[in-house]
Amino acid sequence: MRYLIISDIHANLEALDAVLGSGVGWDATLFLGDLVGYGPNPNECTARLRHQENLISIVGNHDVAALGQIDLDTFNPHAKFAALWTQKEMDEGTKEYLMSLGQVEELDGLTAVHGSPRDPVWEYLDQLPQAPENFARFTTPLCFVGHTHVPRVFTQEPRNRATDLFVPTPDQTLTTDDGIRRIINPGSVGQPRDGNPRTSFGTYDTETHRFQYYRIEYDVRATQAKMKKAGLPEALADRLAYGF
Ligand code: ZN
Repeated sequence: MRYLIISDIHANLEALDAVLGSGVGWDATLFLGDLVGYGPNPNECTARLRHQENLISIVGNHDVAALGQIDLDTFNPHAKFAALWTQKEMDEGTKEYLMSLGQVEELDGLTAVHGSPRDPVWEYLDQLPQAPENFARFTTPLCFVGHTHVPRVFTQEPRNRATDLFVPTPDQTLTTDDGIRRIINPGSVGQPRDGNPRTSFGTYDTETHRFQYYRIEYDVRATQAKMKKAGLPEALADRLAYGF
């Protein structure tokens, strides 16, 4: 089985369509949360994602916020504005779908969470000192996370349990059946934050144990124009061009 690994779509339809139309082949889709929030097309992105074959999805913190399940004062003002906008915009089908999502999935030798193994919805896993405790909180060889919008690969040596961290490069392939455990963040489809505006995603093949990382262009200006028309904060539209 070859999985498309995607995270943090954030209602960005142009970015999602670029990934789905990329020509990269897969048999199943693993989505790591934050389907909505920030972007202008929550219903369209939900409809697109739901129609993917063999789809496994988990919930993200912005999905929880859009469902009104948390105090929005924990968000910065722009994120709060966008969450309130999204609450009004979402149709019943989108709400139902988001409400159906769980926080953790474990399948085919991998674990999937939005934030981190120890705090599946909320922890931003981006620093090496966070790694040992998080490796201790799942049992599969591989874990996929999202949430930071920044691609990262954490590794753990089997013998001495030493952890390390590196940034994958576009088109890099990692073979993961070498006994080393990994936590992989494929970056964000709809709002990359690593200084590169291209949409960020990966694939993982359960037979060859290969993770392949990709960056591709999408029509940032089209998304920005929709956001401005919808009255979403300009800063949220501007950041898409910088990948931050
Ligand atoms: Zn996110």
